[in-house]
Amino acid sequence: MPAPEDFGVEMVGVPAGAVIELDLRLEAVLEGVLVTGTATVPLEGECARCLDPISDTFEADFQELFVYPDTRSGGNAEDDEYRLEDDLIDLEPVLRDAVLLALPLSPLCRDDCPGLCAECGVRLADAEPDHHHDVADPRWAALHELTGGDAESAPSAPASPTGGSGGPGPRGTDRRERRQEG
Ligand SMILES: [Zn+2]
Ligand SMILES: [Zn+2]
Repeated sequence: MPAPEDFGVEMVGVPAGAVIELDLRLEAVLEGVLVTGTATVPLEGECARCLDPISDTFEADFQELFVYPDTRSGGNAEDDEYRLEDDLIDLEPVLRDAVLLALPLSPLCRDDCPGLCAECGVRLADAEPDHHHDVADPRWAALHELTGGDAESAPSAPASPTGGSGGPGPRGTDRRERRQEG
């Protein structure tokens, strides 16, 4: 069957109109038709790390019961159950659940994709093995200047042990003596 529109997630999906292969088994059961199958879908997308195009195929297994219209399933989740309509089954919602929920949200071109250089944006897979930049982060430049200045003019020790020994006492007596003399 041709893939419907919007059959994918953000970074990877099945192109609209691409061929989805279905391998299906339909079984008559008491309440309806049990559909068991495998969908093989072509995938196209972008690597979440290096943005390279990804082209892949994906297989999803699914099994769903389609209940006869005139049958009360007595199921516990009647809102979620699928029903036969005019002897037809609508597989699209089943396929969406089976395929889209299984697709990776962050697809990778390969498991160990190194991504892009944060400095210059080059693909690290194409760059030299020791690709790096010596540029310092500009946010630290001012801090480097500050630490350099501090190191050269370190503050001297604040406490001089002789300062307090004389104290105001002797000086006071000196003044008193001078006043008395004067
Ligand atoms: Zn990649
Ligand atoms: Zn770089």
